[in-house]
Amino acid sequence: MTGTIDAVRTEEQIRADIVECGRRLWHRGFVASNDGNISVRLDEHRVMTTPTAVSKGFMTPDMMVVTDLEGRKLAGDRHASSELKMHLEVYRHRPDVRAVVHAHPPTATGFAVAGIPLDRAVLAEVITTLGSIPIADYATPSTEELPAAVRKYVKAHDGLLLANHGALALGQDVFAAYYRMETIEHFATISLVARTLGREHLLSRREVDRLQGLRGTYGIASPAPICADDTPMPPDDGQVACQIVQAPDTAGARLVPDTPALSTGGGSVQDAEIRLTYRELTALIEDAVKALGIRL
Ligand SMILES: [Zn+2]
Repeated sequence: MTGTIDAVRTEEQIRADIVECGRRLWHRGFVASNDGNISVRLDEHRVMTTPTAVSKGFMTPDMMVVTDLEGRKLAGDRHASSELKMHLEVYRHRPDVRAVVHAHPPTATGFAVAGIPLDRAVLAEVITTLGSIPIADYATPSTEELPAAVRKYVKAHDGLLLANHGALALGQDVFAAYYRMETIEHFATISLVARTLGREHLLSRREVDRLQGLRGTYGIASPAPICADDTPMPPDDGQVACQIVQAPDTAGARLVPDTPALSTGGGSVQDAEIRLTYRELTALIEDAVKALGIRL
Protein backbone atom coordinates (compact mmCIF):
# COMPACT_ATOMS: atom_id res chain seq x y z
CA MET A 1 0.00 0.00 0.00
CA THR A 2 1.43 3.37 -0.93
CA GLY A 3 0.26 6.95 -0.92
CA THR A 4 -0.15 9.73 1.54
CA ILE A 5 -1.85 8.88 4.85
CA ASP A 6 -2.97 12.45 5.50
CA ALA A 7 -4.91 13.11 2.33
CA VAL A 8 -6.49 16.28 3.72
CA ARG A 9 -3.51 18.39 4.70
CA THR A 10 -0.66 19.10 2.31
CA GLU A 11 2.95 18.96 3.46
CA GLU A 12 3.01 22.73 3.38
CA GLN A 13 0.04 22.87 5.76
CA ILE A 14 1.63 20.27 8.04
CA ARG A 15 4.79 22.43 8.27
CA ALA A 16 2.60 25.36 9.32
CA ASP A 17 0.71 23.19 11.85
CA ILE A 18 3.99 22.06 13.46
CA VAL A 19 5.18 25.68 13.69
CA GLU A 20 1.90 26.69 15.36
CA CYS A 21 1.97 23.81 17.89
CA GLY A 22 5.62 24.59 18.71
CA ARG A 23 4.66 28.22 19.34
CA ARG A 24 1.87 27.12 21.71
CA LEU A 25 4.18 24.73 23.59
CA TRP A 26 6.66 27.54 24.17
CA HIS A 27 4.01 30.15 24.93
CA ARG A 28 2.42 27.95 27.63
CA GLY A 29 5.79 27.23 29.22
CA PHE A 30 5.70 23.54 28.32
CA VAL A 31 9.29 23.84 27.02
CA ALA A 32 12.31 25.95 27.95
CA SER A 33 15.18 26.92 25.68
CA ASN A 34 15.41 24.39 22.81
CA ASP A 35 13.52 21.59 24.59
CA GLY A 36 10.82 19.44 23.07
CA ASN A 37 10.10 18.01 19.66
CA ILE A 38 7.17 17.35 17.36
CA SER A 39 6.78 14.88 14.51
CA VAL A 40 4.12 13.97 11.97
CA ARG A 41 3.96 10.77 9.92
CA LEU A 42 3.62 11.93 6.29
CA ASP A 43 3.15 8.46 4.77
CA GLU A 44 4.32 4.90 5.38
CA HIS A 45 7.95 5.82 4.73
CA ARG A 46 8.43 9.40 5.85
CA VAL A 47 8.21 11.54 8.97
CA MET A 48 8.41 15.33 9.23
CA THR A 49 9.99 16.59 12.45
CA THR A 50 11.24 19.66 14.24
CA PRO A 51 14.95 20.60 14.06
CA THR A 52 17.33 20.31 16.99
CA ALA A 53 18.93 23.36 18.63
CA VAL A 54 16.01 25.75 17.94
CA SER A 55 13.40 27.13 20.35
CA LYS A 56 10.10 25.51 19.44
CA GLY A 57 8.45 28.90 19.93
CA PHE A 58 10.36 30.52 17.06
CA MET A 59 10.43 27.98 14.25
CA THR A 60 9.67 28.71 10.60
CA PRO A 61 8.20 26.16 8.15
CA ASP A 62 11.44 25.81 6.18
CA MET A 63 13.29 24.54 9.29
CA MET A 64 11.53 21.14 9.29
CA VAL A 65 13.43 17.94 8.60
CA VAL A 66 12.03 14.95 6.72
CA THR A 67 13.42 11.51 7.60
CA ASP A 68 12.58 7.91 6.87
CA LEU A 69 11.18 5.66 9.61
CA GLU A 70 14.73 4.72 10.66
CA GLY A 71 15.56 8.39 11.25
CA ARG A 72 17.75 8.86 8.14
CA LYS A 73 17.43 12.37 6.75
CA LEU A 74 15.70 12.67 3.39
CA ALA A 75 15.24 16.45 3.20
CA GLY A 76 15.96 19.64 5.13
CA ASP A 77 18.91 21.91 5.93
CA ARG A 78 18.92 21.15 9.66
CA HIS A 79 19.28 18.06 11.85
CA ALA A 80 16.44 16.19 13.53
CA SER A 81 16.42 15.90 17.31
CA SER A 82 18.16 12.89 18.84
CA GLU A 83 14.84 12.23 20.63
CA LEU A 84 13.27 11.40 17.26
CA LYS A 85 14.11 7.74 18.07
CA MET A 86 11.37 7.82 20.70
CA HIS A 87 8.83 9.12 18.13
CA LEU A 88 9.82 6.44 15.60
CA GLU A 89 9.28 3.75 18.24
CA VAL A 90 5.74 5.06 18.72
CA TYR A 91 5.03 4.88 14.96
CA ARG A 92 6.36 1.30 14.83
CA HIS A 93 3.91 0.14 17.49
CA ARG A 94 0.89 2.35 16.73
CA PRO A 95 -0.22 2.38 13.08
CA ASP A 96 -3.14 4.63 14.08
CA VAL A 97 -0.87 7.41 15.41
CA ARG A 98 0.13 10.12 12.95
CA ALA A 99 1.70 12.72 15.25
CA VAL A 100 3.82 12.79 18.41
CA VAL A 101 4.49 15.76 20.70
CA HIS A 102 7.20 15.66 23.37
CA ALA A 103 7.62 18.47 25.93
CA HIS A 104 8.59 19.15 29.55
CA PRO A 105 5.44 20.78 31.02
CA PRO A 106 6.43 21.68 34.59
CA THR A 107 3.58 20.23 36.67
CA ALA A 108 3.31 16.94 34.76
CA THR A 109 7.10 16.69 34.74
CA GLY A 110 7.04 17.30 38.52
CA PHE A 111 4.83 14.20 38.86
CA ALA A 112 7.30 12.33 36.61
CA VAL A 113 10.17 13.44 38.87
CA ALA A 114 8.25 12.45 42.02
CA GLY A 115 7.47 9.04 40.49
CA ILE A 116 3.71 9.59 40.86
CA PRO A 117 1.68 8.44 37.83
CA LEU A 118 -1.46 10.35 36.87
CA ASP A 119 -3.66 7.28 37.23
CA ARG A 120 -6.30 8.12 39.84
CA ALA A 121 -9.93 8.24 38.78
CA VAL A 122 -10.67 11.89 39.54
CA LEU A 123 -11.75 13.62 36.32
CA ALA A 124 -14.50 12.11 34.17
CA GLU A 125 -13.20 13.65 30.94
CA VAL A 126 -9.71 12.26 31.46
CA ILE A 127 -11.12 8.78 32.14
CA THR A 128 -13.13 8.83 28.90
CA THR A 129 -10.27 10.18 26.79
CA LEU A 130 -6.76 9.31 28.03
CA GLY A 131 -7.80 6.76 30.69
CA SER A 132 -4.57 7.03 32.66
CA ILE A 133 -1.10 8.51 32.23
CA PRO A 134 1.56 6.07 33.43
CA ILE A 135 5.29 6.76 33.90
CA ALA A 136 7.79 5.15 31.56
CA ASP A 137 10.99 4.13 33.40
CA TYR A 138 13.88 6.56 33.51
CA ALA A 139 16.14 6.38 30.47
CA THR A 140 19.01 8.55 29.33
CA PRO A 141 17.62 11.00 26.73
CA SER A 142 18.74 10.43 23.13
CA THR A 143 19.88 6.83 23.80
CA GLU A 144 18.19 3.61 22.71
CA GLU A 145 17.03 3.21 26.34
CA LEU A 146 14.31 5.82 25.86
CA PRO A 147 12.43 4.06 23.02
CA ALA A 148 12.69 0.83 25.04
CA ALA A 149 11.13 2.51 28.11
CA VAL A 150 8.31 4.01 26.05
CA ARG A 151 7.61 0.70 24.29
CA LYS A 152 6.06 -0.83 27.44
CA TYR A 153 3.15 1.62 27.58
CA VAL A 154 2.72 2.90 24.05
CA LYS A 155 0.27 0.28 22.79
CA ALA A 156 -2.32 1.09 25.47
CA HIS A 157 -1.85 4.85 26.08
CA ASP A 158 -2.05 8.14 24.18
CA GLY A 159 -0.27 10.06 26.97
CA LEU A 160 2.81 9.10 29.00
CA LEU A 161 5.07 10.66 31.57
CA LEU A 162 8.80 10.01 31.17
CA ALA A 163 10.48 9.54 34.56
CA ASN A 164 12.72 12.51 35.47
CA HIS A 165 12.27 13.95 32.00
CA GLY A 166 8.88 15.09 30.65
CA ALA A 167 5.79 13.92 28.81
CA LEU A 168 4.78 12.37 25.50
CA ALA A 169 1.42 12.76 23.71
CA LEU A 170 0.17 10.92 20.62
CA GLY A 171 -2.61 11.77 18.18
CA GLN A 172 -4.25 11.36 14.82
CA ASP A 173 -2.76 14.69 13.77
CA VAL A 174 -0.42 17.23 15.32
CA PHE A 175 -3.17 19.30 16.95
CA ALA A 176 -4.75 16.19 18.53
CA ALA A 177 -1.37 15.24 20.02
CA TYR A 178 -0.77 18.84 21.17
CA TYR A 179 -4.20 19.03 22.85
CA ARG A 180 -3.46 15.78 24.69
CA MET A 181 -0.28 17.40 26.00
CA GLU A 182 -2.46 20.29 27.26
CA THR A 183 -4.82 17.78 28.94
CA ILE A 184 -1.91 15.99 30.64
CA GLU A 185 -0.56 19.24 32.09
CA HIS A 186 -4.04 20.48 33.08
CA PHE A 187 -4.82 17.17 34.81
CA ALA A 188 -1.48 17.31 36.61
CA THR A 189 -2.16 20.87 37.80
CA ILE A 190 -5.67 19.98 39.08
CA SER A 191 -4.30 16.88 40.84
CA LEU A 192 -1.59 18.97 42.47
CA VAL A 193 -4.14 21.55 43.69
CA ALA A 194 -6.43 18.83 45.12
CA ARG A 195 -3.53 17.16 46.91
CA THR A 196 -2.30 20.50 48.22
CA LEU A 197 -5.80 21.08 49.62
CA GLY A 198 -5.39 17.79 51.40
CA ARG A 199 -7.88 15.43 49.78
CA GLU A 200 -9.16 13.95 46.58
CA HIS A 201 -12.57 12.41 46.06
CA LEU A 202 -12.18 9.51 43.66
CA LEU A 203 -14.64 8.17 41.14
CA SER A 204 -15.66 4.64 42.07
CA ARG A 205 -14.94 1.61 39.91
CA ARG A 206 -18.64 1.54 39.02
CA GLU A 207 -18.50 5.12 37.72
CA VAL A 208 -15.25 4.40 35.83
CA ASP A 209 -16.98 1.47 34.08
CA ARG A 210 -19.84 3.76 33.17
CA LEU A 211 -17.46 6.40 31.76
CA GLN A 212 -15.67 3.76 29.75
CA GLY A 213 -19.04 2.88 28.23
CA LEU A 214 -19.33 6.49 27.03
CA ARG A 215 -16.27 6.00 24.82
CA GLY A 216 -18.40 3.75 22.62
CA THR A 217 -21.44 6.04 22.75
CA TYR A 218 -19.46 9.10 21.64
CA GLY A 219 -17.04 7.29 19.34
CA ILE A 220 -13.96 8.24 21.38
CA ALA A 221 -11.02 6.31 19.97
CA SER A 222 -8.92 4.70 22.66
CA PRO A 223 -5.98 2.39 22.07
CA ALA A 224 -6.97 0.06 24.95
CA PRO A 225 -9.66 -0.52 27.58
CA ILE A 226 -9.31 0.36 31.26
CA CYS A 227 -7.85 -2.61 33.18
CA ALA A 228 -10.19 -4.67 35.34
CA ASP A 229 -8.97 -4.92 38.94
CA ASP A 230 -7.80 -8.51 38.44
CA THR A 231 -5.92 -7.90 35.17
CA PRO A 232 -2.44 -9.43 35.56
CA MET A 233 0.43 -7.05 34.85
CA PRO A 234 2.82 -8.10 32.09
CA PRO A 235 6.46 -8.88 32.92
CA ASP A 236 8.84 -5.90 32.89
CA ASP A 237 9.88 -6.50 29.30
CA GLY A 238 6.29 -6.96 28.11
CA GLN A 239 3.83 -4.40 26.78
CA VAL A 240 0.94 -3.16 28.88
CA ALA A 241 -2.36 -4.03 27.18
CA CYS A 242 -4.83 -1.96 29.25
CA GLN A 243 -5.02 1.35 31.15
CA ILE A 244 -4.52 1.13 34.90
CA VAL A 245 -6.91 3.45 36.75
CA GLN A 246 -6.96 3.68 40.56
CA ALA A 247 -10.64 3.55 41.49
CA PRO A 248 -12.05 2.26 44.79
CA ASP A 249 -14.51 -0.60 44.60
CA THR A 250 -17.36 0.64 46.78
CA ALA A 251 -20.79 -0.90 46.34
CA GLY A 252 -23.33 1.61 45.07
CA ALA A 253 -21.19 4.73 45.49
CA ARG A 254 -20.20 6.87 42.52
CA LEU A 255 -17.88 9.23 44.41
CA VAL A 256 -15.65 8.03 47.22
CA PRO A 257 -13.54 10.06 49.66
CA ASP A 258 -9.89 9.13 49.37
CA THR A 259 -8.81 6.74 52.08
CA PRO A 260 -5.59 6.87 54.10
CA ALA A 261 -4.47 3.79 52.17
CA LEU A 262 -4.79 5.72 48.90
CA SER A 263 -3.42 9.02 50.12
CA THR A 264 -0.30 7.37 51.50
CA GLY A 265 0.34 5.46 48.30
CA GLY A 266 -0.83 2.08 49.54
CA GLY A 267 0.16 2.31 53.23
CA SER A 268 -2.09 1.19 56.05
CA VAL A 269 -4.31 3.35 58.23
CA GLN A 270 -1.53 3.26 60.84
CA ASP A 271 0.76 4.98 58.31
CA ALA A 272 -1.68 7.86 57.71
CA GLU A 273 -0.42 11.36 58.39
CA ILE A 274 -1.57 13.01 61.65
CA ARG A 275 -1.09 16.75 62.16
CA LEU A 276 -0.83 18.22 65.66
CA THR A 277 -0.49 21.78 66.82
CA TYR A 278 2.59 22.70 68.85
CA ARG A 279 0.42 22.85 72.00
CA GLU A 280 -1.04 19.37 71.37
CA LEU A 281 2.40 17.93 70.72
CA THR A 282 3.81 19.48 73.93
CA ALA A 283 0.88 18.06 75.93
CA LEU A 284 1.47 14.59 74.46
CA ILE A 285 5.17 14.69 75.33
CA GLU A 286 4.41 15.90 78.86
CA ASP A 287 1.92 13.01 79.33
CA ALA A 288 4.46 10.51 78.05
CA VAL A 289 7.17 11.88 80.34
CA LYS A 290 4.77 11.74 83.31
CA ALA A 291 3.83 8.17 82.46
CA LEU A 292 7.51 7.26 82.58
CA GLY A 293 7.79 8.89 86.01
CA ILE A 294 10.50 11.30 84.97
CA ARG A 295 10.61 14.72 86.68
CA LEU A 296 11.14 17.59 84.31
ZN1 LIG B 1 12.95 15.86 26.35
